[in-house]
Amino acid sequence: MLDQIRIILVGTTHTGNIGSVARAMKTMGLSQLYLVAPKELPDGQAYALSAGASDILANAKVFDTLQQAITDCALVVGSSARSRTLSWPMLEPRECGVKAVQEGAKHPVALVFGRESSGLTNEELQLCNYHVCIAANPEYSSLNLAMAVQIVTYEVRMAWLQQQALQQSQPESDDEVAYPSNEQMLNFYQHLEDTLNETGFIIKQHPGVVMTKLKRLFTRARPEEAEYNILRGILTSVQRFGRKAQGEKE
Ligand code: SAH
Repeated sequence: MLDQIRIILVGTTHTGNIGSVARAMKTMGLSQLYLVAPKELPDGQAYALSAGASDILANAKVFDTLQQAITDCALVVGSSARSRTLSWPMLEPRECGVKAVQEGAKHPVALVFGRESSGLTNEELQLCNYHVCIAANPEYSSLNLAMAVQIVTYEVRMAWLQQQALQQSQPESDDEVAYPSNEQMLNFYQHLEDTLNETGFIIKQHPGVVMTKLKRLFTRARPEEAEYNILRGILTSVQRFGRKAQGEKE
């Protein structure tokens, strides 16, 4: 899925920045680097600063215009320190991460970063569906290119991890899980109460609130059908054990 999210650098001047971007991307699990009209192609300086992310540099695709690099993308987000001055749909970096991950499941997504000296042109910014602006000191708001990429891709990773965690906590969708019926639960509570009476845990004359508390506990836990069957089995075994012990005494 993260392979569907590409980082596009437009008109980069320093090859070292391209290398640092490759490193930033790889630490966050992204691999698709697109270069639009770079002043120079990745050189020794770029490879040195990529610090082991050379595979990303080697596989980087080069285009003449931003338009060519985004033809297959249905979501394009341009990053700019100055975006707040243009009236364009804006995303916070966090929202940008969530949106990129959501849409990356359906189609290629582009995150676009501008020139070190002058950022993205208005024409380039207008090719984007949204702009993302990293909140910074208003008097000094321009981050180093690779650091801007790092922040945005970190948010992509956070959104992706959250999605993974959600999927893992729901391995089976709710409609695959069978739950006991209301009637079964009432039978279970009766069975539990009978058993607790037999063991002497509940004293008939002073029933107290224990059954209410136990009902609340099982309502909260919401046992599945298979768990319900185990609980019923346990109660039956306790009753059998108690009755046997009772018989031996008599
Ligand atoms: N001097 C340029 C800034 C260039 S920094 C300007 O005024 O636009 C290089 C790139 O890093 C920017 O084009 C942008 O893509 C990204 N960037 C830097 N700071 C940013 C910020 N605060 N928010 C979003 N993107 C930022």
